[in-house]
Amino acid sequence: MKSYLKYPLWSVCATIWQTLCFLVPYFIGSPSEGLYGIMAIIAYVLACGIGIFGVIYFTGTSRYLCALYLPLSALLGAVLSFYLVGYHTTLTPMLIDATLHTNIEEAAGVISWQLILWVIINISIAIYFVWLRWTKISLHKEWVHALVSIVLCSLYFSCNQRLHNSLVQRFPYNIPHVLHEYISLKQTMQEERSISPYQVMETPDSLTIVLILGEAARADHLQLNGYERATTPRLKKRKNIVSFPHIYSEQTHTLASLPYILTRADSLHPQRQYTEASFMSIFRKEGYQTSWISNQDLGSTFSPFLNECDTLIFANAGKSEYVFTQWLDEEMLPILHKLMPTDESNALFVLHTIGSHWYYNNHVPETMQIFQPVTTNKVVTGNSIEQIVNSYDNTILYMDYFVDSVITSLEQKKAILIYQADHSEALGEDGEYLHANDTEMAKHPACVVWYSDRFAKAYPQKIEKLIANKDKRYRTDYVFYSILYAAGIEGEGNTPDMNIFM
Ligand SMILES: [Zn+2]
Repeated sequence: MKSYLKYPLWSVCATIWQTLCFLVPYFIGSPSEGLYGIMAIIAYVLACGIGIFGVIYFTGTSRYLCALYLPLSALLGAVLSFYLVGYHTTLTPMLIDATLHTNIEEAAGVISWQLILWVIINISIAIYFVWLRWTKISLHKEWVHALVSIVLCSLYFSCNQRLHNSLVQRFPYNIPHVLHEYISLKQTMQEERSISPYQVMETPDSLTIVLILGEAARADHLQLNGYERATTPRLKKRKNIVSFPHIYSEQTHTLASLPYILTRADSLHPQRQYTEASFMSIFRKEGYQTSWISNQDLGSTFSPFLNECDTLIFANAGKSEYVFTQWLDEEMLPILHKLMPTDESNALFVLHTIGSHWYYNNHVPETMQIFQPVTTNKVVTGNSIEQIVNSYDNTILYMDYFVDSVITSLEQKKAILIYQADHSEALGEDGEYLHANDTEMAKHPACVVWYSDRFAKAYPQKIEKLIANKDKRYRTDYVFYSILYAAGIEGEGNTPDMNIFM
């Protein structure tokens, strides 16, 4: 073989090894029906594979760097791919946090002989490639190869934002990316914020308040709001349910919308989301047991608020939208039941759901996917509108089940529950899909309020107003003022326009 071909060929072979062992596991279980679906998956794997090639080609220019990088990447790649295939767990900031808070016994419990074998096999392959590089390949003008790979990688990373996002969530780029994300999230969580001077006007006892943060649920797809399909049969049968069909969210994605729900930030005072604490700090100051149970990724815009609660639990720390596996909201229920006070103390719970997030089918158990046929392709446009709407409506049906289950655990308490989706979703109207693209379809989130009999008896005026207000228009900013007012806490900015109980 010509000597100048040896190094590129060596890099390609090492790339194929790492792609098959460490990258392909990310795509196992990806829905990919038909030629279009298969082509899409192959294109994704190839795109990410080129990313792997870039690092190997660069580090291989130095024999020493190669001897360091290949075994280290083999170790990390083998561990990550093992948990990805065996436990559908991927590297996320929450997983790093959970791992750092794990004791040695718990850590030992997840190490198996299969994992050790898989690591040994891959490190052996890495050592073989290092041996080839040291003994069979001699490079002249290494800096030319290094320069070529740097230029290729920079072009590659800057060409397309979507591809960039996809790459940094997968091996090997996810390791530095997630570590960096974890460190910066930890920093934002430590930020000091001012607590608005809110006052307790009435002091309730044994009050339980639950805010369920919905994900991408559309008000017009709720049977409660007149949708022709039976998407909310359980809530429809319940008493003490008030649905608000005219809630408006200017923000069309989770990161942008949550600060407006949790703090006093609104379109006139957007800066408050960066300087003020959320309503959780006020509840905590008033002696409530405050808990945030999350079934979503951490986000930089709302992570500071998570630090305000007494208890923060991630129901699925190792799940990511980049891995196709079942990821259900009901996994939060046992945590909620465990934290629910049994005495007369006041408690506030925020449940952050994965709800109607794409890929819809992953967030609904198979037995509840009753609207058929459902989507079969992970690329949204690879499905028909009928499939997309069916899968989406199944997520609403599952939301109905989830919210109903939470209500069941509150029935005997003096309790109020607000379900508010962060934004809504486009389902193919005007060729638009999903959310975050600032379409009108993504600005009308679902909102449902439930109150227990004991709550209605204690605060009849609030319930009277709640029912009278149900057809009024509110922005999602109403949550901050309303949730505090429901507990008898009032302060600046609390007006009937902002409060569903006034
Ligand atoms: Zn969202």
